[in-house]
Amino acid sequence: MTLRDPSKAAQRVQAASATQWDVLVVGGGITGAGILLEASRRGLKTLLVEQRDFAWGTSSRSSKLVHGGLRYLKEGRFGLTRESVQERQLLMQQAKGLVEAQSFAFGDYVGRKPGRKLFLFGLAVYDWMAGLAERHYFGRDDFLMMAPNMQGDGLVGGMRYTDAKTDDARLVLRVLKEAESHGGQALNYVAVQSLLRDGQRIQGAIVTDTMTQDVHEVRARVVINATGAWADRLRGKQPSSDGTQPKDNWPKLRPLRGSHLVLPAWRLPLAQAVSLMHPHDGRPVFAFPWEGVTLVGTTDVDHSADLQTEASITRPEVDYLMAALQEQFPQLDLSESDILATFAGVRPVIDSGKADPSKEGREHAVWVDDGMVSVTGGKLTTFRVIAMDVLRHVQRLLPEWQDKLAPQAVFEARTAVKAPKLSSQQRQRLLGRYGHHAQSLVDAAHEGELALVPGTQTLWAELRWSARAEAVLRLEDLMLRRSRLGLQLRAGGLEHLPRIRTMCQPELGWTDQEWEQEQQAYLQLWQAHYGLPQ
Ligand SMILES: Cc1cc2nc3c(=O)[nH]c(=O)nc-3n(C[C@H](O)[C@H](O)[C@H](O)COP(=O)(O)OP(=O)(O)OC[C@H]3O[C@@H](n4cnc5c(N)ncnc54)[C@H](O)[C@@H]3O)c2cc1C
Repeated sequence: MTLRDPSKAAQRVQAASATQWDVLVVGGGITGAGILLEASRRGLKTLLVEQRDFAWGTSSRSSKLVHGGLRYLKEGRFGLTRESVQERQLLMQQAKGLVEAQSFAFGDYVGRKPGRKLFLFGLAVYDWMAGLAERHYFGRDDFLMMAPNMQGDGLVGGMRYTDAKTDDARLVLRVLKEAESHGGQALNYVAVQSLLRDGQRIQGAIVTDTMTQDVHEVRARVVINATGAWADRLRGKQPSSDGTQPKDNWPKLRPLRGSHLVLPAWRLPLAQAVSLMHPHDGRPVFAFPWEGVTLVGTTDVDHSADLQTEASITRPEVDYLMAALQEQFPQLDLSESDILATFAGVRPVIDSGKADPSKEGREHAVWVDDGMVSVTGGKLTTFRVIAMDVLRHVQRLLPEWQDKLAPQAVFEARTAVKAPKLSSQQRQRLLGRYGHHAQSLVDAAHEGELALVPGTQTLWAELRWSARAEAVLRLEDLMLRRSRLGLQLRAGGLEHLPRIRTMCQPELGWTDQEWEQEQQAYLQLWQAHYGLPQ
C-alpha cells in the first residue's frame, strides 16, 4: 500500500542518501530528538531516522511527568534527582503550555510508610534542589477538602508538593520541529538495517524506507545509537569486519514494562494529582488529571515480549492498578468498565541484577564503540542533559568541531498567538505544543474547528494541522501521537472518525481505499494494545 505519491516517497530518503552528514541519529524518541536539536543548533549537519513514527517507542508511553522523582531521592540518587528538578524548572519556564506545574497530594495514614517526618524531610530536600518552598502539610479535614474521595479511614492529614506534567509525544514533536528550524532533518518510517564501516570505524548505515521498502545508504561521520530499549539490537547489526565478536563494553539492558490506565475525569475527578503507596507491595502509584482524563500508573515488571511488537498491559497489571484505585477511592466504586484506554511502555534500564525491578537505576549511560556513540536509559525530563553528554562524546570523535557546548535555551521564545476565539490558556497550550507554527495552525482552521473535541482539550484544528504539516504517514500517528485522542476517548475515538476523515483525508491526500485500510489497521491496533487485555 502506498500512502503517498510514490515518486515523492522515494525522494524523501533519496535526498538524505545523497548527502554526507556529520551526524546520523538513530531513534526518534525524546533522546534522539534532543540530540538532533543540540547538534543542529551547533552547526553539525544532522539527520535523524526513526523506524516507526516519531515517539512511537517509550517516549509516547511514559507517565508524562516532568519530575525529579521523589522515589529516586528515597533511593539516595541525589544527582539524578537534582538534575531532573533543575530541568523541570527550566522546561516549565521555557515550554509553558506544554510542560505545566502539577500539585500532588500524599495522604498521611496511621502506620503507613513513609511517615510524615520522613516524607516532609524528602520534600524539603526536593524543594531545596529547585530553590522553592512549595510543600505543605494539611490536617485531615483540610486535606480531604483538597483531595476529596480519598480513603478517610486511618487518615491523619496529608502533604502537598509540586511537580510537572507534559504531553510526551508532543514534547518530542516540539523538539524535532525546533531542530528543523536549525537545519536538522528527521525522517519517520526509516529503519536502520545495518551499519556501514570504513575499516574499523562505523561511517553510516543501510536504511529501509518502511513505507516503500526502498533501501538506501546514508553516510555520516558519526552515528548515534539513541534507540532506547532497542540499543542492543543495533549493536547486533554491526558487522564484525574480522569475524570476531564485538568488544563487550556495552552495559546489559533490562527492559522493564510500565503500564497505565486512562479513566474519564468525571469518574475519577481529581483536583490534585494523588500519589500513594500500593496496598500490596508499597510501590508508589499515582493518578493525575491529564488533558481532560485521569491517568493512573504505573507498574514496573520485566518485559520479555518482542520489542518490535507494541507493549500492552497484561491482566495482572490491570488488577494491580485497579486494586490501588479501589483501596484509595473506595466511595467511587470504580470498575473496569470505567477504563477508557490503557497504554504500556518499556524502560531501558541498565541491568545491575537487582531482584526487584523498581530498585534498578534510572540514570542514562553513554558509551562509544568503533565510532558509534550509544546512549540509553535516563528520563524524558533530562533529555537536554543527556543530549549534551552525548555531544561531549561526539566532540572527541570530531576534533575539528570546536563548539564550546555552552547551554542554550531549550526553545526560542515565541510571540503570542492571535486568536480571539480562544482563551489565554488555549493560546498558551498551542504555543507550547506547536511553537512558531501555532499561528499557522490557527490560521488554517476552518469554521468550527477552533472548538474542542468533546471530552478532551484538543482543538479540531490541531488534527487538520497535524495532517497537513506533521509527517503523518499512518492514521495511528494522528490518533495516538500527534493528538492523543486514541488514549482519551472510548474505543480509540471511533465515534469521531467520520469528522476526522472529512477534515484530514484531503490534507493527507489519501484515497478512500487508503483511508479505509488505515482506519481498519488503527482500530485493530487499538484493540490489541490500547484496550483491556482480551
Ligand atoms: C512506563 C514508563 C513511565 C515513564 N515515566 C516517565 C516520566 O513520567 N517522566 C520521565 O521523565 N521519564 C519517564 N519514563 C522514562 C522515559 O519515558 C524514557 O527515558 C524515554 O522516553 C526514553 O526515550 P528514548 O528516546 O531513549 O527511547 P524511545 O522513546 O524508546 O526511542 C527509541 C526509538 O528508537 C527507534 N528505533 C529502534 N531501532 C531502530 C532502528 N533500527 N532504526 C530506526 N529507529 C529505531 C524506536 O522505534 C524508538 O522509537 C518512563 C518510562 C516508562 C517505560
